[in-house]
Amino acid sequence: MFGSIKLKLITWFLAVFTLVFVALGLFLHYELKEIVVGSVDDHLYSEITLLAGILAKEVEHGHVEEGLYEITEAASGEYAVSLSGHYYQIVDTTGKVLGRSPSLTLGDVSLPIPPISKDVIHINIKGPLSDIPHRSVSQTFTFDVVGEELDLTFQAADSLEPSYYVLRSFRNMILIALPILFLISIAGLYYITRYALLPLGIFSNKIGLITARSLNERVGEKDIDAELVPIAKSFNTMLSRLEKAFTRQREFLSDASHELRTPTAVIKSHCDITLRRDRSEDEYRDALGTIMKTSTKMTAIIERIIEVSRFESKIFHLKVVKLNLMDVLREAVALIEPFAHEQGVTLTLCDLDELHILADRERVSEVFVNIIENAVKYNRQGGKVDIAVNSIEDYVCVSVSDNGIGLHEDEKDKIFERFYRVDKSRGSVPGSGLGLPIVKAIVESHRGKIEVESEPDEGTTFKICLLKD
Ligand code: ADP
Repeated sequence: MFGSIKLKLITWFLAVFTLVFVALGLFLHYELKEIVVGSVDDHLYSEITLLAGILAKEVEHGHVEEGLYEITEAASGEYAVSLSGHYYQIVDTTGKVLGRSPSLTLGDVSLPIPPISKDVIHINIKGPLSDIPHRSVSQTFTFDVVGEELDLTFQAADSLEPSYYVLRSFRNMILIALPILFLISIAGLYYITRYALLPLGIFSNKIGLITARSLNERVGEKDIDAELVPIAKSFNTMLSRLEKAFTRQREFLSDASHELRTPTAVIKSHCDITLRRDRSEDEYRDALGTIMKTSTKMTAIIERIIEVSRFESKIFHLKVVKLNLMDVLREAVALIEPFAHEQGVTLTLCDLDELHILADRERVSEVFVNIIENAVKYNRQGGKVDIAVNSIEDYVCVSVSDNGIGLHEDEKDKIFERFYRVDKSRGSVPGSGLGLPIVKAIVESHRGKIEVESEPDEGTTFKICLLKD
């Protein structure tokens, strides 16, 4: 239900709005009641103090009876109209009513007897005839009548109907206003959220138009709302990465098919030529030998392609164990020795004690076999290859130096790219251009480093550093 931002915003807003509105309504209702009833109390209190003042004057002259009579006669306005809702009465301590407003006497009714209290008493009472609530304010005053103390309680009461009418009107106004404001808010919020989220829709449409064929396109970062700029930036960064990955993939595919085209063409042309007419047994053997050699080369290329793509997509598992690096180097040298002998190149391995590293034996052997084989391959008759080992801080570094054909400055970085072969090596020396990318991937997967230093026609040194045990 809350899967949409729009719905979440509307629900939250309306919940908070209703809570605030209801709380505010209740508070205002309470305050209004206090004000309205308070003003009735003030009016009634001034009424009883006025009456008590009139009586006090009469008592000074010793005329209590006349005073009470005068209070009744002096009544004017609403107090003089029968059952008008505005009343007063004067009661002695026995509960006997000594004087009443004409509004009571004319209707021949009386108010409930008020409590005797020197403090002002505010209470709600029932009306003289109906259940209509009335507000009563009363207080007991003491008069000195010829040396004798006389306690009289003055009570004034007003109907609360007009006050309750004001409160009812206020409550009804709130009850009508709440649903109307509620509906207006829903409509307003709906349009606001719709308008606010519109750019998101436009943005997602733009993204939807980008396909694998148009990965070079970018989402504009200038003509969109500020809140969407970080999303657009991240999306464009992701597109750049995807574009690079797609391009690499495409290049890899075309390089791989290009590399395989030559041996396939060789095999096909040998088959064509051989099958054109009947051949002697030796001729068939020759043709099959060439086909065999070429397909072996092809298999080696395919295996390297698979290996490179495994490293690129990081689908490989290292069996890390404690290794004696000198053993690995001795084995690699022994493996390349016959080939070096064939090429007239001398291999020299420094003699050192045991040096331990944590690595995958097979992978690390592959690294050194490759590097030493290259040092022999790209060398000259009578050339030399020296293998030295140094311990530098946390690393053990192996330097393989040759005095072969060397590399130009601009070729030093490129040799680690897939299928890259220096032009002069092509044709003359067999190879696929996949050895060094694999070497680099293996070294880096061991958190090691590989560097190359070279001078054209003077020689090359590859330095491979691996973490010590
Ligand atoms: P391959 O040897 O199969 O061609 P590599 O990836 O091992 O592929 O090497 C890439 C290129 O780097 C080689 O073709 C060669 O031109 C150059 N290279 C590698 N090692 C050396 C070296 N020791 N001296 C000179 N050039 C080298």
